[in-house]
Amino acid sequence: MNRLASYAFNPAIKTALQQIPQRFHRFLNCDLLCGYDPIYVGLFSFENTSDGRSYHNTACCAYPYHQSCISLALRATTIVMPKILHPLDVIHELGHVLQYNLDPDFELQMKPVTTYSETDNLEAFAEAFTRYIGEDYWVIENIYKDLHPLDRAFFDGIN
Ligand SMILES: [Zn+2]
Repeated sequence: MNRLASYAFNPAIKTALQQIPQRFHRFLNCDLLCGYDPIYVGLFSFENTSDGRSYHNTACCAYPYHQSCISLALRATTIVMPKILHPLDVIHELGHVLQYNLDPDFELQMKPVTTYSETDNLEAFAEAFTRYIGEDYWVIENIYKDLHPLDRAFFDGIN
């Protein structure tokens, strides 16, 4: 479900994509739902995140298997941005797309680099990817722990 309510979303998305090396881009194909409530437009029906936030206004990555409200032919991995995000948060969501395209059974286990990474191995992967991409562009050492060398080697090895 590709919908963009406003061009105001573009700068953060553009900055995020510019920071991600080209070698990753073939694994980042996804739809974008920007500026809309994903439940209102019928992308999925569950309302609350595992930590109590509302999906009505929380950014997320909706995988095809989340989208039982729409026909199979229309389902696609979709980054949902009800509100404009910081580019680092766009990179986090693209990290979920990357993982799904490389590891659809979510078996990869990355070492947590933030408290939020400890939620599950999906968030650990997305946060590790954010650290990997963001460290050359933003001062994030006070937010993110160092990547484990094996996790860095994993990202280095993607071509
Ligand atoms: Zn996430």
